[in-house]
Amino acid sequence: MPEDKLSKIVAFCRRRGFVFGGSEIYGGLSSIWDYGPLGAVLKKKIKDVWWDTYVLGREDIVGLDSSLIMHEDVFRASGHLEGFSDLLVDCPGCKKRFRLDKLEKKDKHAYRCPECKKDIDIEKSKPRKFNLMLKTNLSATEDNPNYAYLRPETAQGIFVNFANVLNTTHKKLPLGIAQIGKAFRNEVTTGSFIFRMKEFEQMEIEYFVHPKKAAQAYQYWVNERFNFYLEKIGLAKDNLRLREHAKDELAHYAKSCTDIEFNFPFGWSELEGVANRGDFDLTEHARVSKKDLSYFDPETNERFIPFVIEPSAGVDRTFFALICNAYHEEEVKGKLRTVLKLKPSLAAFRLAIFPLLKNKPDLVELAKNIFYDIKNKVSVVYDDSAAIGKLYRRQDEIGTPFCVTVDVDSLTDKCVTVRDRDTMQQTRVSTDKLFAFIQEKTN
Ligand code: ATP
Repeated sequence: MPEDKLSKIVAFCRRRGFVFGGSEIYGGLSSIWDYGPLGAVLKKKIKDVWWDTYVLGREDIVGLDSSLIMHEDVFRASGHLEGFSDLLVDCPGCKKRFRLDKLEKKDKHAYRCPECKKDIDIEKSKPRKFNLMLKTNLSATEDNPNYAYLRPETAQGIFVNFANVLNTTHKKLPLGIAQIGKAFRNEVTTGSFIFRMKEFEQMEIEYFVHPKKAAQAYQYWVNERFNFYLEKIGLAKDNLRLREHAKDELAHYAKSCTDIEFNFPFGWSELEGVANRGDFDLTEHARVSKKDLSYFDPETNERFIPFVIEPSAGVDRTFFALICNAYHEEEVKGKLRTVLKLKPSLAAFRLAIFPLLKNKPDLVELAKNIFYDIKNKVSVVYDDSAAIGKLYRRQDEIGTPFCVTVDVDSLTDKCVTVRDRDTMQQTRVSTDKLFAFIQEKTN
């Protein structure tokens, strides 16, 4: 996937109302983005698929919606206060600031600047630590501050509620607690569109198991989540791969970790991390809070701190991968056609309805009647604001799987022309069978 695809996709997302720059009319904010009308729909659909699959679809996982602002001690226990920092280094050439771990190493002390290509000697430009958490003050006065933090991951809300969930649901292990929500990181590396944002959304499951079952559960979740991207999101297998972390790359608490990577326009990068975090989180929260976070198994009479497997996915990265995967440019009769080949269930509209001629009132009326008839059953859009070729192109671009045209013959034969987004083939369908036709083709 070439780099210029990135600028095409950024421009496309803006033009069609998927993604806008945050606070744009005031000059914008770096790495902060807003989702427009079509983006908001797609993002919600991604979250719904995940929630429906794991929370509604399973007996062993329950949902949670914990707060974004959390107590300082949460992050003392989790290690974020101490250790959630990047090593940053300034390039002496272009003066830009980079994460040391993302730079190309030349030799022992020298790295290559990705912007101006000059050498960065870390003996001279000493790397400095920079904590990524966003701090806020909950006190009404500045001189008596009461600091709290915007969570840098949704996971901590799950760990601090582990006992609450266990005691109120009376569930047994293995038990997953799932949450979708915003997370905040004061990221320094910028410029990769919605891949790395300061405010983003995560879909995380903390899956608690007996320590002896952790290795097996970890493998299960790596496969399960890989297949989710293939089957439920529709990413191409060629664009996905698994990358297991080497032992020296693992976070100090993690027993093992595998990234699910997508082939983004700038190369293979993390879409999701699946980690076996051992008993680190519950042990540390129990230690700092002095609360009992152990689990008692009534069948074996055993009390223990569960291990946790964490599949941690990014909503925004899934959205980005999905657009990259679905975006196609094709030449049709000497003209460029842009088409978003989304799974029909993820498209904002299952079908679009147009009258062939907008100056014929009886055609417009019939088209609108068909639209209102079907509107309560399936997501549909009506449009008569341009010529038919342009209307098709608009719908192709946003991934609408079927376009329905009402023409003069429709008035007598009660049939409409249904055009398939991907093949562009047209089929004549009777209006009373239209809904069933769309249902069958898009489910
Ligand atoms: P990276 O190494 O790319 O910074 P990470 O390993 O720090 O990512 P995790 O802490 O494992 O990321 O977070 C889990 C998931 O949350 C990531 O796989 C990604 O999908 C998403 N995510 C993390 N940071 C961001 C961000 N700044 N912007 C958008 N999504 C993010």
